[in-house]
Amino acid sequence: MNIVVLIKQVPEIALIKVDEAANKVELPQGPGTVNPLDEYAVEEGLRLKEKTGGKCVVVSVGNERTESALRNCMALGVDEAYLMCDEAFDGSDQQAIGKILAAGLKKLGEYDIILGGKQSIDSDAAQVPSAVAANLDLPQALFVKKIEEIGDGKAVVNRTTEDGYDVVELKLPAVISVVKEINEPRLPSLKGKMAAKKKAITKWSAADLGLDGDGIGAGSATKTIKVTPPPPRPKGEFIEGETPEEIADKLFDKLRSDQVI
Ligand SMILES: Cc1cc2nc3c(=O)[nH]c(=O)nc-3n(C[C@H](O)[C@H](O)[C@H](O)COP(=O)(O)OP(=O)(O)OC[C@H]3O[C@@H](n4cnc5c(N)ncnc54)[C@H](O)[C@@H]3O)c2cc1C
Repeated sequence: MNIVVLIKQVPEIALIKVDEAANKVELPQGPGTVNPLDEYAVEEGLRLKEKTGGKCVVVSVGNERTESALRNCMALGVDEAYLMCDEAFDGSDQQAIGKILAAGLKKLGEYDIILGGKQSIDSDAAQVPSAVAANLDLPQALFVKKIEEIGDGKAVVNRTTEDGYDVVELKLPAVISVVKEINEPRLPSLKGKMAAKKKAITKWSAADLGLDGDGIGAGSATKTIKVTPPPPRPKGEFIEGETPEEIADKLFDKLRSDQVI
């Protein structure tokens, strides 16, 4: 089975700043890290590869800094990494990123399942896997917490809902986004890290993917009108008392008066 995992390199969240005057988000420099939920997608990809054979590759739309995130995945056992990188991609919204990834997947050619994380921890839209599925006209299941069965051209998955989960059967190839209940990601070995340093990363530009500006970069369908920082967190409150029981009683009263419980 040929497995593709969509991974996003995300910056250190605590260092992100909002420049209201310039109406933009200032992202910190530095290598950043693999989007945490994508680590679960990579783990699931590796487990599927170990179960069914074939190969597991990672693809990303990013820049030179994304290379370290891709190498981290190869250190875990991913076979190949593909980076889609071009100035023409600057300003791409989620639909545009979906279009670029879909073009990369078409060029890759061989895939039975495309895995991604539920959402990123920076832009947080939870849209990219759907956008990829739409561009490739593939079935999709989002927020999957278990792949029950896979093979013979179909997959049966548990898709998380607000009050439980649905059991969904999909024809393969299909796109699946995962939640962290799905597995426990492995850590890289030293040998894996050393081997990943020597592995090549395939890079594709807009021209390599046959993309002009239509629907990507500055040609994205959405525009950011205004960027504002979140409101400051309200100050915390210490609840004091002579005994743990008294503190617990006061806390209970406070939570009830604030209608938290
Ligand atoms: C108008 C507009 C302009 C923007 N301009 C820029 C810009 O100039 N520079 C910039 O850095 N960002 C820009 N962004 C943000 C950029 O569109 C998002 O970071 C990107 O689309 C991913 O969206 P997300 O983080 O919400 O991912 P989600 O949809 O929350 O991600 C879900 C999953 O999709 C996969 N995924 C997401 N992104 C990628 C990726 N890049 N490669 C591979 N897999 C991925 C991962 O598996 C991830 O877990 C812009 C957004 C808008 C709306």
